Amino acid sequence: MSAHEHAFACPFPVIDDCLQVGGVPLTRLTERVGRTPFYAYDRRLISERVALLRRHLPETVRLHYAIKANPMPALVSYMAGLVDGLDVASAGELRVALDSGMAPAEISFAGPGKREEELRQAIAAGILVNVESFREARVLVRLSEELGLPARVAVRVNPDFELKSSGAKMSGGPKPFGVDAEKVPALLHEIGALGLAFEGFHIFAGSQSLRAEAIVETQVKAYELAVRLAREAPGPVKVLNIGGGFGIPYFPGEQPLELVPIGRNLAALAERLRRDLPAARLVLELGRYLVGEAGIYVCRVIDRKESRGHVFLVTDGGLHHHLSASGNFGQVIRKNYPVVVGNRVRGTRRETVSVVGPLCTPLDLLADRMELAEAHPGDLIVIFQSGAYGLTASPTAFLSHPAPGEVLV
Ligand code: PLP
Repeated sequence: MSAHEHAFACPFPVIDDCLQVGGVPLTRLTERVGRTPFYAYDRRLISERVALLRRHLPETVRLHYAIKANPMPALVSYMAGLVDGLDVASAGELRVALDSGMAPAEISFAGPGKREEELRQAIAAGILVNVESFREARVLVRLSEELGLPARVAVRVNPDFELKSSGAKMSGGPKPFGVDAEKVPALLHEIGALGLAFEGFHIFAGSQSLRAEAIVETQVKAYELAVRLAREAPGPVKVLNIGGGFGIPYFPGEQPLELVPIGRNLAALAERLRRDLPAARLVLELGRYLVGEAGIYVCRVIDRKESRGHVFLVTDGGLHHHLSASGNFGQVIRKNYPVVVGNRVRGTRRETVSVVGPLCTPLDLLADRMELAEAHPGDLIVIFQSGAYGLTASPTAFLSHPAPGEVLV
């Protein structure tokens, strides 16, 4: 299946049948990078994506980038100039976020099982910690005393609802993330009694949803839950992070998320917020929606093999660099990401092939029986929708091949 049959709206221009990234032909960019495989992220597409969101969302809604989606330091620094805050999930990500120049006041830290040394660094940096357990609250109190700095905290709530039809459900039912909503009042009392600096709530219900109505429903529920919980809070709510979950289309038949209903709903919620929690800022926490479509993965054809009537393009890239494109990062049924031959996008002759990597496992499959331009050793295979959960979500040590390059163009 080609990118065209895939009904994929390729955001990268094609000139003389060669893909352009950040205004540079892919063949030239490959020379500039000096090796394959590599990931390339396009600044212009990232800026356009943030601008698109700003056009649809009310001005008062704060846009945060969850850097787990793509923690490349240059990209995070670029993003720091576009968004209102960064969300990190480890001390490693915190270092990248602080280096980006984002004000520590606008950085928050979520994730179950934060280690003591991570919490210590978070307090010292002056960032907001999304507390995910009673244990974490107590450790924060002790560390605050030791450091002579009160930890800034929000409570991450595990609500009793989920983001429907999402790729990853992070809430509803028993979950390791956050504190069950029914236990939150007790935690709020403890936070007040222990003297932590309470700032608000974090309610993240799920990821990768392409259904605006599901996102709207979740945002309303998260908002109403936060307003109810705020009655038990030890101080005014300053931050109300209602999560994100905005998805991008990866597979045939998937349509881009409609922003109009989401913007309309957020405008209504922002209006209610002014009355219900006048000190609070409404925050959206987005990862893949901001960067996923701005990135490609590029690998080179090493060998072209025919096996019992089927053509395999064997490349120098594979699941060790791009686990999600191989279908092994949370997919139930494997489907192809959009793929082209980047230096011959349409080509004169086309054929149905499978694109594989160098690993000795049938899982190392980047495209399964797709129609592509005819390709030979030396040609460049491009996988789109690779700007999020690419390199850092992949088992790079597996089979000890070299790590890929990364460029921001
Ligand atoms: N924030 C939290 C707490 C998450 O768990 C996740 C994803 O799992 C994200 C943000 C980013 O989600 P996405 O990249 O789908 O926007």
